[in-house]
Amino acid sequence: MADTIDSLRPPLTTHDSSTAPTPSGSNPSSAPGSPKHPFFDYRDERSHLTDAGAFRAELPTAIPPPVASTSVPSSHTLTGQPSLEHLSLSNPSLSPAPSSPSGSTTSTSHTRTRSRSDSLASKAKVKGDLTSPRIANLGLSPIPGTPGGLASVAVEDQEQKEGQANGLGLLEEAWNGAKVDHGAPVLNAEREEADEIDEVFTAQNPHEALTAELRALYESFQRCLDLRDKYMSLSRQRLEDNPANYDGHFSPSSSPSYAATSYIRPVELPKDFEKWRIYPPPPEPHWKERDPEATEPPVVEGAGEGTSEEERVRFDFGRCEVPAREEGRGRTFRLDEGGVYQVYDEDSPTTPLYTVPTLKQYFQDLDVVLNVISDGPTKSFAFRRLRYLESKWNLYVLLNEYRELAEMKRVSHRDFYNVRKVDTHVHHSASMNQKHLLRFIKFKIRRSPNEVVIYRDGKHLTLRQVFESLNLTAYDLSIDTLDMHAHQDSFHRFDKFNLKYNPLGESRLREIFLKTDNYIEGRYLAEITKEIFSDLQQSKYQMAEYRISIYGRSTAEWDKLAKWVIENELFSDNVRWLIQIPRLYDVFKKSGGVNDFQEVVRNIFEPLYEVTADPSSHPELHVFLQRVVGFDSVDDESKAERRLYRKFPVPKDWNTTQNPPYAYWLYFLYANITSLNNWRHERGFNTFWLRPHAGEAGDTDHLTSAFLTSQSISHGILLRKVPALQYLFYLKQIGIAMSPLSNNALFLTYERNPFPNFFRTGLNVSLSTDDPLQFHFTKEPLLEEYSVAAQIYKLSPADMCELARNSCAQSGFEMEIKRHWLGQDWYLPGKDGNWIHKTNVPNLRAEYRRATLQEEMNMIAMVKENPSALDNSAVEQATSSDAAASSQAPPLSQRAQEPLMTSDNVGAAAMGASGTNLHMPGLNASGSASVNGR
Ligand SMILES: [Zn+2]
Repeated sequence: MADTIDSLRPPLTTHDSSTAPTPSGSNPSSAPGSPKHPFFDYRDERSHLTDAGAFRAELPTAIPPPVASTSVPSSHTLTGQPSLEHLSLSNPSLSPAPSSPSGSTTSTSHTRTRSRSDSLASKAKVKGDLTSPRIANLGLSPIPGTPGGLASVAVEDQEQKEGQANGLGLLEEAWNGAKVDHGAPVLNAEREEADEIDEVFTAQNPHEALTAELRALYESFQRCLDLRDKYMSLSRQRLEDNPANYDGHFSPSSSPSYAATSYIRPVELPKDFEKWRIYPPPPEPHWKERDPEATEPPVVEGAGEGTSEEERVRFDFGRCEVPAREEGRGRTFRLDEGGVYQVYDEDSPTTPLYTVPTLKQYFQDLDVVLNVISDGPTKSFAFRRLRYLESKWNLYVLLNEYRELAEMKRVSHRDFYNVRKVDTHVHHSASMNQKHLLRFIKFKIRRSPNEVVIYRDGKHLTLRQVFESLNLTAYDLSIDTLDMHAHQDSFHRFDKFNLKYNPLGESRLREIFLKTDNYIEGRYLAEITKEIFSDLQQSKYQMAEYRISIYGRSTAEWDKLAKWVIENELFSDNVRWLIQIPRLYDVFKKSGGVNDFQEVVRNIFEPLYEVTADPSSHPELHVFLQRVVGFDSVDDESKAERRLYRKFPVPKDWNTTQNPPYAYWLYFLYANITSLNNWRHERGFNTFWLRPHAGEAGDTDHLTSAFLTSQSISHGILLRKVPALQYLFYLKQIGIAMSPLSNNALFLTYERNPFPNFFRTGLNVSLSTDDPLQFHFTKEPLLEEYSVAAQIYKLSPADMCELARNSCAQSGFEMEIKRHWLGQDWYLPGKDGNWIHKTNVPNLRAEYRRATLQEEMNMIAMVKENPSALDNSAVEQATSSDAAASSQAPPLSQRAQEPLMTSDNVGAAAMGASGTNLHMPGLNASGSASVNGR
């Protein structure tokens, strides 16, 4: 398989030498005097479109150089550079009118551009390729206008062109790709063959195109997807697994099965689960939302209805229910030999209740995924699909930008400012901006200079003494002396960046102001946290998921943290917590804090198992955990990971001073969360997601282990280097909380950030701030993040609202709250799940995303639905079995295509109204039907 697809690249010569001059040979003669020819014009029109960013990258690499160089100047003189407006005016296909007769054909020219990268020639091999061979031939075609190169096609084109005196006519022709499509000077026989293959490729039954190579590709992708499904369901990290999502309306079985590609697999909800209650309850909505479908005129509501800020229910620990040990079920837990907590039934104390993949199994599965994503053909395939998706997006935007805007204008009340946005990745101790921290420090020096704040070197020090020892007064303090911005000197210096957490470069100030566990029991940090909470609440539409550390140095950390939260009443309707676990085993080991890795595992997880067994043993922890949505794993990913062992030892044998690699860390977080989640689910307690930092720097296999184990990730910028994995992240819609401003300061400059590409491709990305203390300047760092991205990447209002919607969906807030933010069935794909009057995301957009994802999923799923597929070797056999398959195929194929075939398919309609001649799968569902009819 590998060699087949790779060998598709070179064989220019055989084809060209027999039919026409080779590109290099034809070059000199054609350059200056080449006549007006649609092929040229077409190409030029396309090249001017590269402004939109769509095709620029492809053209230079894909077209044989001589062609490119000659075609551009000649056509410049021909048609000039019609503007985009011209394009859409002159050609109905570009206007959104649904009745446009040629609307669908726009895609053809698009496909052609794409196909230039697919330099294929040999027809036998073409079968194995992923694009239409007719299209592929175009990419190889000698330059039109050269002697012999055009053959009969030139005449045809010449005739067609008569009467089209001006450039616009040519342009139109270019867009009505069907005519131009035959511009390739191939031999008749070859053309027939190509058409035949093309027919196979776009035929009604997609399975007919399933050749051995494709089959192998799909199978490998499917295997990876299945593996992830397995890991997610075993660890209960799916949406329907968390009892906090059972709000009385949503239950796992209430979701329709067609949502399977998106979020939900139906499971029966155990009978004894009650509706999840959030305490303190979220505030009532100020405005009564109007039903968008309602026909009666809007009722004018008085502003300020419902609870005001002051009327929010305050947290009262006394009113929290803390259950006791569960009677009758008889559960015990212990750490097994492999460093994983297991839960046992008392009746069978040797067999664990829940399935947890073993370390060996995990590394084997990891190997499977690694092999798939490093395989050459898989990479090329994924790369092309991603390119295709991005190009398709660009086309979608060209066609629909104004329609989207019109749709948004029709929505009353909503705009970007009042749709909900969640800061999906922000570290709590860096969540205030510098000005805020500075003001707070000055305030404390002024108001309570004589408070004892720290014990250092055998002495108790007051705040005044601390600043005296630093030789500073409150007056001296400024943002410059604080020196916490990571803008100039931290690039690729994570070590330096870590030091930026120290105000004035002093670790003792960090300890006083930014730690929860210090001499003043984290009181200062709690006070400043409350101020942040209040800012968020005032903004109303901004939420945050703060990372707060558990190090694994001692089992007492959890109780201390929980007490800090409870006693300082750090509860807000706008805030949920994630626990970040710094990968600092080596540091603890060197300082003698722990002996082996298993101790770290025990320190992190034992209290969680204890509190699950008997919440009354750690009541504060139990209540705090209700507001914890997941675990994060943090550290400098760019540190080198030395492979010490051929086979990884279990944690109790890991006693070197070397830190375990990322994948090993992640396994032990995953495995221990797995038993924990299952047990908590059984008890009706909320479960946790694993949402580590992954792919910020370092090895790309971090992302692979995250793909298996993690519900979503932060950063992910390295996905740009691993197309196959990126494609898998797309297919699974794994959430990626990206922070381009943070990357800009640390690892990747802003303009090179893959964020806009990911967004266009359709990955499930959101914007987040990471560390406002180091990176942001304004009081609303999340809006700053959106605003910079919008300016630099030219995001439209619809884009911003879609990003905001993504962030809410990715967040760990409870179902009841998300429903209020996003709409009743927000978890459904497409327009069913998009309530535009809440999200302000155009339905057109939602439907486009759904249809596009559905298409990719259907394509990959072909292997599943067509087990009796082609033999691995014989192409002839393939044709005959195709025939056989097509006779039985309709029901199968209809099923596969069903979601796309609905007549009210907005997404498909969006991409071209009539869609009768489409050859590009997924642009329009009806495309295949037309091919069938010919
Ligand atoms: Zn971070």
